Amino acid sequence: MRHIDYLDRLDFPDFKVSVKASDVFMAVAAYRDLAARIEQPLHLGITEAGGLRSGTVKSSIGLGMLLMDGIGDTIRVSLAADPVEEIKVGFDMLRSLKLRSKGINFIACPSCSRQNFDVIGTMNQLEERLEDVMTPLNVSVIGCVVNGPGEAKETDIGLTGGSPANLVYIDGKPASKLRNDHLVDDLEQLIREKCAKNSSSKTL
Ligand code: SF4
Repeated sequence: MRHIDYLDRLDFPDFKVSVKASDVFMAVAAYRDLAARIEQPLHLGITEAGGLRSGTVKSSIGLGMLLMDGIGDTIRVSLAADPVEEIKVGFDMLRSLKLRSKGINFIACPSCSRQNFDVIGTMNQLEERLEDVMTPLNVSVIGCVVNGPGEAKETDIGLTGGSPANLVYIDGKPASKLRNDHLVDDLEQLIREKCAKNSSSKTL
């Protein structure tokens, strides 16, 4: 607070404040306290959060609690991992909180013995292949009819596992069938076509 007073007295308003800590509870309490006392923007972070998995969980919990309270203006995810992962995690965090909508929001089931295609393999490949897409789109990838049709009705593109072919829904309506042989290629193509269509209809 003393440093903020110095800057105020010097009439220097162009700064933001960060009070990162590696302890989630300490960081959240500090930011909440600060947000109640000052007007300046806050830069959020759980510093030295850990490796890719544990650091992602800690950062998501800490930053998620604050962002849900409307606290925070910029964020940094600190991971002992490839810095590219920090950006991806931060972006997914904002997308999960619906603070950003760019890119594909995947809904996928955890898969089980009822799955009619390799749900996990399909999801991993799609996420990797479609990283460049910035058009907002909801895509569900569900292994069987237990949850597939329900999720597909709420998404722009929905894949429901079935035998002998899987059913694709577009805008909630059954549209085509895809066999397992070229499932990822075909689905990627459909998603890219839908993104292009949505983008061009927005610019008309
Ligand atoms: S939707 Fe079907 S395949 Fe997916 S986890 Fe549920 S029962 Fe299993």
